[in-house]
Amino acid sequence: MPARLDEKLEPIFQDVLHRNPGESEFHQAVHEVLETLGPVLVKYPEFVEKKVIQRICEPERQIIFRVPWQDDKGEIHINRAFRVEFNSALGPYKGGMRFHPSVYLGIIKFLGFEQIFKNALTGLPIGGGKGGSDFDPKGKSDDEIMRFCQSLMTELYRHLGEYTDVPAGDIGVGGREIGYLFGQYKRITNRYESGVLTGKGLDWGGSRARTEATGYGTVFFTQEMLKARGDSLDGKTVVVSGSGNVAIYAIEKAHQLGAKVIACSDSSGIIVDEKGIDLAVVKRLKEVERRRISAYTDVHKHAKYVEDGNIWSVPCDVALPCATQNELNGSDAKTLVENGCIAVAEGANMPTTPEGVQIFQEASLAYGPGKAANAGGVATSALEMQQNASRDSWTFAYTEKRLEDIMIEIHKSSFETAEEFGSPGNYVLGANITGFIKVARAMDAMGLI
Ligand code: GLU
Repeated sequence: MPARLDEKLEPIFQDVLHRNPGESEFHQAVHEVLETLGPVLVKYPEFVEKKVIQRICEPERQIIFRVPWQDDKGEIHINRAFRVEFNSALGPYKGGMRFHPSVYLGIIKFLGFEQIFKNALTGLPIGGGKGGSDFDPKGKSDDEIMRFCQSLMTELYRHLGEYTDVPAGDIGVGGREIGYLFGQYKRITNRYESGVLTGKGLDWGGSRARTEATGYGTVFFTQEMLKARGDSLDGKTVVVSGSGNVAIYAIEKAHQLGAKVIACSDSSGIIVDEKGIDLAVVKRLKEVERRRISAYTDVHKHAKYVEDGNIWSVPCDVALPCATQNELNGSDAKTLVENGCIAVAEGANMPTTPEGVQIFQEASLAYGPGKAANAGGVATSALEMQQNASRDSWTFAYTEKRLEDIMIEIHKSSFETAEEFGSPGNYVLGANITGFIKVARAMDAMGLI
């Protein structure tokens, strides 16, 4: 059972349910934020009077459009794409594009809603948005991906701009897709507007450390949570779900900080390697050959592959869910706690169900919600926009240091806010309130728009 809402917030939530039928992930994301806002309303009664929360829950603009494209055999396919421009109080809409067959309006709205508070937490001037399509990139050729991206951008370009809306990657959208999207935007508009997309290649306006940023940031955040408890990652056993961009660079940074990652996964199964995951193999399989993680055992015969295995049943000190939403439920959370896990930080967006979150909080382990723990990706996107605006290109070391400082600051502000509002150690409450207050004050200052 999710926690009860404050009496002023319950009718607002009922209204969200009523106005957005069937969008369960969006309902979940809104509920999780509203659960923590009760004490804010006592301190800021003007937010109630001016209906700031109701306004935040309603996207400023939602775009839904058809994307027709032809496969290599000439057959025609029709997909649906979305861009939800949720909130621009702090800056241009900012957030990734997700290509996955599960995408529908409710998924994009949950992601866009999370993005508002995550982006506010970074302290950088970016609003919140998200987009995507129900297109399935799995098994598609490069040419098919290119034709799909070009068709999508042929409609989306009119809604974008470096001061308007700046997409990036998410699940199913990486450097290759951003290249095709940027190429088509440049061609249609006849403008080399570098700051209109982030996650670009290093030769054409991308930022060093952007590829690594989400995974690295999640591990920096984990390190801060452990430090606050007088501990560190050194010598810890870590389990990372997923094997995409976020997981790969979480594993890399965890190894650099002296931890041993013993398991990772993809949607087919899990790999357990007690000697420590060989990241070079995972990178080759996933980034170059685009193959299944099961092929890991072709190289490392001692490792174990379990088809449909549950990664959360692998005992560990630290768990980093880096795959997708609702991948860790109440019973997984219980297993982790029983196995002695001391910290969980979310590299993915909303990977833990409300039941799982409650179990982590009751067990008082260090639990870093995605909004705070995975904000390093979008923060480094904002650093990419800075470099584009000043026609500059920073070194890896400098950019990584900026990222680390931002993650330290996000941890500090979430930690201190949780204390201030009477829930020490509750990073969910700390992150939600910190992000919310920044956005709400900006909205209030700008009047009723
Ligand atoms: N998709 C990433 C996220 O969930 C990054 C978004 C961006 O860089 O704009 O935050």
